[in-house]
Amino acid sequence: MQAMATETFIGNMRGPVIRRTDVDYDAVRSLYNGMIDKSPEMIARCTDVADVVTAVNFARQNDLKVAIRGGGHNGPGLGSVDDGLMIDMSMMKGVRVNPTACTVRVGPGCTQGDVDHATHAYGLAVPAGIVSTTGIAGLTLGGGTGYLTRKYGLTSDNLLEADVVLADGRIVTANKSENADLYWGLRGGGGNFGIVTSFLFQAHPVNMVYAGPVFWDLENARTVMQRYRDFLPGAPEELGAFVGLKTVPPMDPFPAEHQGKRACAIIACHNGPTEDGQAVMAKLLGTLPPPLFNWMGEMPYPTLQSMFDPFFPKGLQWYWRGDFVKELTDEAIDAHVTQAQKLPSTLSLMHLYPIDGAVRRIGKGDTAWNTRDATWSMVIAGIDPNPQKAGEITRWTKGYWEAVHPYSAEGGYVNFMMDDGDDNRLKATYGDNYDRLVTLKAKYDPTNFFRVNQNIRPLHS
Ligand SMILES: Cc1cc2nc3c(=O)[nH]c(=O)nc-3n(C[C@H](O)[C@H](O)[C@H](O)COP(=O)(O)OP(=O)(O)OC[C@H]3O[C@@H](n4cnc5c(N)ncnc54)[C@H](O)[C@@H]3O)c2cc1C
Repeated sequence: MQAMATETFIGNMRGPVIRRTDVDYDAVRSLYNGMIDKSPEMIARCTDVADVVTAVNFARQNDLKVAIRGGGHNGPGLGSVDDGLMIDMSMMKGVRVNPTACTVRVGPGCTQGDVDHATHAYGLAVPAGIVSTTGIAGLTLGGGTGYLTRKYGLTSDNLLEADVVLADGRIVTANKSENADLYWGLRGGGGNFGIVTSFLFQAHPVNMVYAGPVFWDLENARTVMQRYRDFLPGAPEELGAFVGLKTVPPMDPFPAEHQGKRACAIIACHNGPTEDGQAVMAKLLGTLPPPLFNWMGEMPYPTLQSMFDPFFPKGLQWYWRGDFVKELTDEAIDAHVTQAQKLPSTLSLMHLYPIDGAVRRIGKGDTAWNTRDATWSMVIAGIDPNPQKAGEITRWTKGYWEAVHPYSAEGGYVNFMMDDGDDNRLKATYGDNYDRLVTLKAKYDPTNFFRVNQNIRPLHS
């Protein structure tokens, strides 16, 4: 790379380009997962679409490997790249709500919290995940599951339109009538096809919710998981609820007598009148042993969405694995409980997020996101602040995953993959959509310029 080309590139950018010698290099390159330490040659901090085009063209002309960073939450750190160019979208924020159409225009640097904050003022929300610091871009392009999924679908199911910068530097819009094939691929196919510079979402009425966690001792986990499994499919879709195996956090405000206990939790959100939420939950809770504590109550939706943020600051060590689960058998539940008894740290966890309701009302081939016949999306995450525990939490996660994987479908949610996203696993995840994604990739990114992602490519037998 010639020094002059680099200087011209920097001069053409409106946003800053950070290099290894810059004082803020380490702060800017750091990712959410403290286990990942990547050193890009340069970081292009884009402020507008023109910056994105400039960065893409510069990388292509100089054979630089490119990574796209939105919120930087990706588990294996696919928002960065060693020795290449990180195209950092995190400064491109901005949310504009159209209350008449119930739509929301969102910049690719927004976190979920940015979107919730802006939409809540209008009594609206876009279905997304459960931690507010997660980037809306990576989450949407991989799918996006959360409390509103049962009623309103995946985040990607609510994507109406995207502006995209392609590998050749062209700017296109994708929606149901313009570049409809690209629009299909963006809804689940990840960052394979280009850099999204603007998202347009469908929003829904969400304001106060009846929500929060209920915790039981791990010795009740078998019963809780069985009853939850049997109850949820028949429950109103206004109720989003996931089940988890975890530890009662050893800190205030958790009851001192329960802190540090291995536990099973249901974390629920009812979007509707509080009395209805209480009545629905009472039906489930009435069949269950008394919990250690029940912290469900009425709260603004963004309060729920940021409830877990304090436990998961940037920089923790994370190793995770996911699977789609079609049927949660008693044998599978037993395997879960056995593994949870070996939780290696107080933050480590297993969650099962529901995949039903509105997700199933869209056809498997209607968007790239294929596994619409799953019942749950499972994540197992070994998490700890101490880098010296990286090996231990990784071994626990892999061991847990190996013990329960025989009860799972072959594929997993791309946003919960770590280093397991090989060709066969992606093929299993995308099923019949895989070949169509390969064709789309050949059309929009024939040189695989965008390859730092869960990469779509032809399978070689
Ligand atoms: C604490 C935590 C909680 C989570 N909770 C949930 C949850 O509730 N539900 C859920 O579904 N997922 C959840 N996730 C997973 C999350 O969806 C993924 O980590 C996702 O990759 C995060 O997106 P990001 O923009 O923050 O990531 P980044 O690391 O910035 O980007 C990840 C990848 O997305 C692509 N990408 C990002 N921006 C763009 C863009 N503008 N154009 C094209 N491609 C782009 C790129 O391929 C990039 O490599 C959670 C993750 C964490 C760490």
